[in-house]
Amino acid sequence: MPSTNIAETWKKNLLVQQIMNYKEVLWLNGDYFMNNEATMNLSLNEKDILEAEQRLERFAPYLAKVFSETEEKGGIIESPLTNIVSMKTELESRYNVSIHGEMFLKEDNKLPISGSVKARGGIYEVLKLAEDLAMKNNMIHHDDDYTRFSHSQFKSFFSNYSIVCGSTGNLGLSIGIMGAVLGFNVVIHMSKDAKQWKKDLLRSKGAKVVEHSDDYSKAVEVGRKQALQDERSYFVDDENSRNLFLGYAVAALRLREQLNEKGITVNKENPLFVYLPCGVGGAPGGITFGLKTVFGHGVHCFFVEPTHSPCMLLGLMTKQHSNICVQDFGLDNQTEADGLAVGRPSRFIGEFLEHLICGVYTISDNELFSLLHLLKDKEAIKVEPSAAAGIAGPVVLYRNKENHLVTGQLEKATHIAWSTGGNMVPEDIWYSYYEKGKIITHK
Ligand SMILES: *Cc1c(COP(=O)(O)O)cnc(C)c1O
Repeated sequence: MPSTNIAETWKKNLLVQQIMNYKEVLWLNGDYFMNNEATMNLSLNEKDILEAEQRLERFAPYLAKVFSETEEKGGIIESPLTNIVSMKTELESRYNVSIHGEMFLKEDNKLPISGSVKARGGIYEVLKLAEDLAMKNNMIHHDDDYTRFSHSQFKSFFSNYSIVCGSTGNLGLSIGIMGAVLGFNVVIHMSKDAKQWKKDLLRSKGAKVVEHSDDYSKAVEVGRKQALQDERSYFVDDENSRNLFLGYAVAALRLREQLNEKGITVNKENPLFVYLPCGVGGAPGGITFGLKTVFGHGVHCFFVEPTHSPCMLLGLMTKQHSNICVQDFGLDNQTEADGLAVGRPSRFIGEFLEHLICGVYTISDNELFSLLHLLKDKEAIKVEPSAAAGIAGPVVLYRNKENHLVTGQLEKATHIAWSTGGNMVPEDIWYSYYEKGKIITHK
């Protein structure tokens, strides 16, 4: 059936009608598994995540050497887990809800090197490629000192290869910065919504930027086609990459340590609720896979998308995944939330998460700006608009308490909003977001 016909049949659905009117909605996944079987029978498992973690550890001395900001943590790219008490109080009074338990912000806005969640998957994927190529050519072995990757012979070897990817901005930054430092030729295909400063920054790092007058899906398609024509060209496939996915999943192992340090127990009786901004699905998908693998039915993950780009929600709900796009439902895919302006979801992610994801909610751009503003005022934390999306999570959950899949578990809950980016936003641009949020908040 053509996708527009599929959309037609779904238009009778009440929730779909609300989505089509750009309303903020919560969708709960009827296929969610409330037991530990959710991660059985998947094509990836804990061993794959551990392997990815070990690879990042091998590269840590190299990263500490070439990126001085990672030196302090020995080349491990990780972000703080911050208790946001004042923001939680603000949410409770502003939205007239009372939220049980502590609320944390997972501050990927502060991730070193590229300042967004993409530093997890994107950098991992580039490192894996570099290791694979170097091993194939007998230039390195697992137990060698990986600082050798900074030697000129490695750089000139990698200059024979190119890395290509399509991006709305942040993935391009991660791939571009890491790839260029290793010596690769990097070509980033940017969608029309990509911000000028991201293109400028990438070019200054030595990456080639190809600008498209179309949206994200088109930029990816052109990039993929170009890379296929050249065997020395490697395509980072944001929609289908297992490497990206595993790079994101490692976050769960690190989060487990951070929660341990804070004395927070996670299990069925003491559930953890995690709210993750979603674009094509890779970052929130990989993190969810990691968390479900680590915490089983102790953790419940929600995705959040802009009201103008709810592609994963529509893909999951209709089970059509990449068969459909938001435009089929008359939605315009216009949002200020970089990284979330995606009209067509990944099939790989949607199918993989079928039983793992608890639900998806949507949020308006105005609300994003408002939360960005409040987070600065209450916690002195600066994030980009997309990164604020998860902060609304507990409010949405408590507003819909009565029909909730996990009702009765909220009393002993811990909440984590995943803040996905912010560090790289130029000061003046960030300030314009803040000012916009101020006006909306006090309207
Ligand atoms: C890319 C991105 C996301 C979502 O990641 P996907 O893999 O596209 O789902 C969320 N927030 C920010 C800031 C991003 O750049």
